[in-house]
Amino acid sequence: MKVPRSTDRAKSWLLGAAMLAQGATLAADGGAHSDALIHPQSWPAVTPGIQPDPKTEAFVDGLLRKMTLEEKIGQLIQADIGTITPDELRKYKLGSVLAGGNDAPGGDVRTTPEHWLELADTLYRASVADHSVHAAIPELFGIDAVHGHSRIPGATVFPQNVGLGATHDPALIEKIGRAVAAEVAATGLDWTFAPTVAVVRDVRWGRSYESFSEDPTLVAACARAMVQGLQGRPGTAEFMSAGHTLASVKHFLGDGGTLNGRDQFDNRSDEAELRSVHAAGYEAAIEAGALNIMASYNGWQGTKMHAQKALLTDILKGRWNFPGFVVGDWNAQEEIPECTKYNCPEVLNAGVDMYMAPDSWRELYGNLLKQAHAGTISQARIDDAVRRILRVKVWMGLFSKGPPRARADAGHFELLGSAAHRSIAREAVRKSMVLLKNDGGLLPLDPRGRILVAGAGADDIGLQSGGWTIDWQGKSGDVTPGGTTVLAAIKKAVGPKSAVTFTKDGTGAEGATLGVVVVGERPYAEGSRDALH
Ligand code: BGC
Ligand code: BGC
Repeated sequence: MKVPRSTDRAKSWLLGAAMLAQGATLAADGGAHSDALIHPQSWPAVTPGIQPDPKTEAFVDGLLRKMTLEEKIGQLIQADIGTITPDELRKYKLGSVLAGGNDAPGGDVRTTPEHWLELADTLYRASVADHSVHAAIPELFGIDAVHGHSRIPGATVFPQNVGLGATHDPALIEKIGRAVAAEVAATGLDWTFAPTVAVVRDVRWGRSYESFSEDPTLVAACARAMVQGLQGRPGTAEFMSAGHTLASVKHFLGDGGTLNGRDQFDNRSDEAELRSVHAAGYEAAIEAGALNIMASYNGWQGTKMHAQKALLTDILKGRWNFPGFVVGDWNAQEEIPECTKYNCPEVLNAGVDMYMAPDSWRELYGNLLKQAHAGTISQARIDDAVRRILRVKVWMGLFSKGPPRARADAGHFELLGSAAHRSIAREAVRKSMVLLKNDGGLLPLDPRGRILVAGAGADDIGLQSGGWTIDWQGKSGDVTPGGTTVLAAIKKAVGPKSAVTFTKDGTGAEGATLGVVVVGERPYAEGSRDALH
């Protein structure tokens, strides 16, 4: 039976009821008591690649002393570019904005890199317009550059994570991280919601392709490499220097291990499996200097991750000493019992520092302010969350970088899809290929004779690229310029002397000496293609 996404909320409730029937106790927030299931001392200690330093803390202290409560609440919220104007950003002083999977400057996903830079510049300037009382606090602008800066037409499209994992080549993944960061910086954005470090355990999950591997050791190696590539290596001058981008390690925790591979559902593994399998990528990423982690939509043992104080606070920030901030996922607060997307102090209290509140930011702001006055959220929790966000903004040089247009690494649009970056992508494609068998020495193919290429995937850049390309779900067709289809690549490889013909359905095979069939999926993203029956 296929269950549409819209019933996810109902499913969570059903799940809660089922767990109760199995004897779990119910917490005041409606979730099962998972605090008692987590034993921080049994989790490995982690040494973060970057640790708080007195100078940064003093600067942040100074800001915290002067900021109004309203300004602090603003830092805790991220709005979507489709729902906030520069004037509103100036007024509410939100900590961040994002471009959601279908959002773009002017509402046009096919717009130019120049338009992205212009928007980044406008939003930045709005966020720092008022600076009479204390240093202005620039906003952070984030996007899903998850396989290249792939929302931008003409940017280099790299293999999805499942392909990168198959390369077993962390050095190459680090190079890819650098290339992606340079392209993101060229458009004036600060932050990519990558890498996904899910350890996929059930390939029916619609996000399986975003996972590097089912093997936690490989995921950890890839996570480390990607974070180092995107941000630069911590402890060196390159860390968050020009051409680098803030990474977001996601989705914390256990997204790859949900029941039957159902997106956003419950992970039922025990503490030991959660720790040894699903946590692997985070420990490595934090050691590599990760400064941001995204909380996950899924639950663990009946409680949604956004309400999992034991994991978000006791493990991540306590046991692991994570010095950065936790961002929520897209309106994920609405899935917490008793909450709506507009109102959910539980999430902040559990340890999420910044709400991803694409269209809900305004009401959320009002409610958080009320809750701060009423003491539903403590001043200490607000200050801790703001401190984490400001600390990261300092570490990434946001206070000194200036407006996007003035940045040395911005405006270099020639980097998008550059020959150098495409050659790294090509290497990754080559190394990601998995040869299952080679009966009778069929490979390498003999280019003499007539080759018939068949299959819808043979001549379609969109199908080759998958989800999160130009828009959220991706599309079939010529979605982005500059790529090479399988058909074009075969033609080029065999040269003009051979005859290569193409039919989608395989007709015309008579007389061919060789047939190459390219089979693929239609693009999709997230739960839309969970394979549930
Ligand atoms: C996804 C995240 C993504 C965010 C912003 C969510 O639905 O789960 O992976 O970063 O949207 O697009
Ligand atoms: C947005 C994505 C987001 C998704 C979450 C889409 O409309 O464009 O960014 O991940 O919704 O459900």
